[in-house]
Amino acid sequence: MTKQQRNWHLADSYTQLPHIFYKPTNPTPVKAPKLLIFNEELAAWLGLDTDFLRSDQGIDVLAGNAVPEGANPIAQAYTGHQFGMFTMLGDGRAVLLGEHNTPQHERVDIQLKGAGRTNYSRGGDGRAALGPMLREYMISEAMHGLGVPTTRSLAVVSTGEPIMRETPLTGAVLTRVAKSHLRVGTFQYAARFGSFDDVKALADYAIDRHYPELNNKLHPYLSFFQEVIKEQASLVAKWQLVGFIHGVMNTDNMAISGETIDYGPCAFMDTYDPRIVFSSIDVQGRYAYSNQPPIAHWNLARLGEAMLSLIDEDEDQAVKQVEKELEAFPRLFNDHWMNGMRAKLGLFNEEPEDDSLITSLLDIMKTHKADYTNTFLGLTYDKLDDATIFSTDDFRKWHKRWLRRVEKQHETDEERKDLMRCNNPAVIPRNHRVEEALTAAVDNDDLTLVEELLHLMKDPYAHTDEQIEYAKAPIPEGPYTTYCGT
Ligand code: AMP
Ligand code: MG
Repeated sequence: MTKQQRNWHLADSYTQLPHIFYKPTNPTPVKAPKLLIFNEELAAWLGLDTDFLRSDQGIDVLAGNAVPEGANPIAQAYTGHQFGMFTMLGDGRAVLLGEHNTPQHERVDIQLKGAGRTNYSRGGDGRAALGPMLREYMISEAMHGLGVPTTRSLAVVSTGEPIMRETPLTGAVLTRVAKSHLRVGTFQYAARFGSFDDVKALADYAIDRHYPELNNKLHPYLSFFQEVIKEQASLVAKWQLVGFIHGVMNTDNMAISGETIDYGPCAFMDTYDPRIVFSSIDVQGRYAYSNQPPIAHWNLARLGEAMLSLIDEDEDQAVKQVEKELEAFPRLFNDHWMNGMRAKLGLFNEEPEDDSLITSLLDIMKTHKADYTNTFLGLTYDKLDDATIFSTDDFRKWHKRWLRRVEKQHETDEERKDLMRCNNPAVIPRNHRVEEALTAAVDNDDLTLVEELLHLMKDPYAHTDEQIEYAKAPIPEGPYTTYCGT
C-alpha cells in the first residue's frame, strides 16, 4: 500500500492500549474511486491540503487505496447492547487511519467507513452503500450546523464497485472525523472480555484523551463517569430540542466524548409526536423520541456496570456509588431541556409556571398534530396564520398565557425575538428533502440537492429568505421510515 504525507499529522495512541482493543487493519483498495462530496471547511479546520485531497492521490487516501505516511490503521473492538441484546461487534466495516492533530492542537480520529472487511466483519462485506453514506454526511453536518455535538463528515467517495444487498448498490466510503470512537460498548467489551488492567487502561486512555483535568481528582474514575453522564444529558436534551431521533441508541452507538455518532435510520420529526419512531427495525418503539432520555440513562447504567471494578474494590460499594451517580441523570437532562425550551419560547428567567407552560404547548401540538419546528418558528416570527394549530381555542388560550409570561420579564421584545431566533432553527433536514436529495444523487448522479441542503444547514439560525422558503413542512405529511444503513 502506498504511503502519503501532505499535512497529515497522525498519531496512533490507541495502539498503545492492550492488543485486545484493536486489530491492525489496512483499508481494502477499491477499483475506481470518485470524489462525490468534500467538506472544504472541515478540511481547512483540520489543516489539510484541500487541493491535494481533491487530486487523484488525495482521493486514493479517502477511498482507502493509499494511507497517509505515519498511519498505523486499525479496526477497533467493541461490544454493544443492540435493542437490549448484548453482542460482540467491533469495526466491521470501518478502519481508523489514526488520530490527526489539528493546527489548534485538537486530536481527532480520522476513520474510513465502508473501507472493507476487518476481523470484526462477521458475515458482512465491510462495505457501505452510497445512499446511507451521503445520508450520514448530510445529517451529521446539519447537526453540527444546529449546534449539536456530533462526529463530522469530511468526504464521500464512490468506489466504482457495486455492493450486493437486496439489489446491487453503488459502494461508497465516508471519511468520518470524531473526537474519538470510544463507545459505551468499548467499556462493555473490556469488562466482558478483558482483565481489570484492560478496563483500567481503557478508562485511563479515555480520561487522558477527553477529561485530562480529572487525573488530579481524588476519584478520577468516578469523576469520569459523572462527566460522561453530564455530557450525555446535555447531548440528548439537544436532540429533543431540535426534534432529532437517533433511531439506534444501542450502547455501541453512544460515544464517551458526548458526540452524536453512527447515523443510521435517524430522522428529524415533522409533526410533533412523542411516540414517533422512524426505524423500520424498531417495531417495539424502544428508540422512540420520548424514550431517548430514559434509553440514554439505561446505556449509562451499562457504562457504570462496566466500570464497577474501578470504582470500588468492594462490589456492593461500587454498585451503590454508580447508582447514586446515575440518579442525577434525569435532573441533569431536565435542566438542560427546560433551559433550552425556555430559550425557544424567548424566556430569559425561570418561573415556577414554566414547566406547565411548556408541557401545555407540547400537549396542544400533539393534539393538533402540529409541525414541531414550524410551531416554534410561528411564535418566533409572530406569524400565527399559517398552521391549523394557531387557530384553535387551545392554542389561543395558551398564547395569551405565554404573552403574559413574556411581559413579566424585563427584556425588550427585540431581545426576546433574538433569543428565539438563536434557538429555533429556520431549517432542519426534513425527511422529504433528505430523500429527494438522496434519490437525485444515487439514481441520477446529481448532487445539486445534497449541496443545497448542506448550504442551507450551515447556519440554521440565520433565518435567511431562502431558508424560510425551504423550511416548509411536507404536504401531505405522511409516515416516514428509514432503513438501516448497511
Ligand atoms: P451499525 O449499524 O453501523 O452501528 O453497525 C453495527 C455493527 O455491524 C458494527 O459492528 C458494524 O461494524 C457491523 N456492520 C455493519 N455493516 C457491516 C458490513 N457491511 N460489513 C461488516 N460489518 C458490518
Ligand atoms: Mg454502530
